[in-house]
Amino acid sequence: MDIIKKWMKHALKATTEFLKYRKSLYMIPLFFMIMAVLIVSVLYFLFQTDLFSDEPEEEAEYESIAIDFDQGSDVSFNGETIIIDPGHGGKDPGASSVSGQTEAEIVYSIAEKTEDILVSNGANVEFTRAQDEFASLDERKADGDLFISLHSDAMEDPSITGFTTFYTYDNQKEFAEMMNESLDKYSDFRNRGTNQSNFQVTWQLDYPATLIELGYLSNEIDERMMSSEDYQDLMAQAIAEGIYNYLN
Ligand SMILES: [Zn+2]
Repeated sequence: MDIIKKWMKHALKATTEFLKYRKSLYMIPLFFMIMAVLIVSVLYFLFQTDLFSDEPEEEAEYESIAIDFDQGSDVSFNGETIIIDPGHGGKDPGASSVSGQTEAEIVYSIAEKTEDILVSNGANVEFTRAQDEFASLDERKADGDLFISLHSDAMEDPSITGFTTFYTYDNQKEFAEMMNESLDKYSDFRNRGTNQSNFQVTWQLDYPATLIELGYLSNEIDERMMSSEDYQDLMAQAIAEGIYNYLN
């Protein structure tokens, strides 16, 4: 930075001199020449040090390492029974989206992708409903080690966006929080936090359970992302990783 200071001094000096002798015509082109040399030098200096530097970039302080759930990896869910509750279904489509895909369809698709990851890594997975089937909230009460209810919200205000995780009892809080953390790692949606709530699906269970609102179908960006295969794969990875982190 000393060099820049030095140049600044020169520029100041040149400017004062220019003002002093502004009546002399030859000072004007000289002044512009000095300024041109200064500008080019400063630009050269900046590009040299920052943009074309061969030095390796500093590593980010926090590096998130995705858990490798591919078949053949060491990750194991050790036979834990995970209940996946895809929200709505059958005569109850849930929230509808701009593209026409319903909440029931989107969460079912994410549920299936999550099941694939979990089962191929040693977990037992049970669904609370079949595809295109209606299940009452009472019927969604199932025994297991962990319970995840998948939903996506809709609001009248299309600007509302983001994901939220919910729990009812203290013994469900940590699971809901870890699921929120994992979603935060994978999703660019606004994180609306982990909240206590009396949703029946978590309220009627006495073991770690969480209800996840993955995003808002009433928001154009949330909806477009959630309808896409890629984002659904990402959410399945996030959910599986959240479960794994909680169990380990
Ligand atoms: Zn819902």
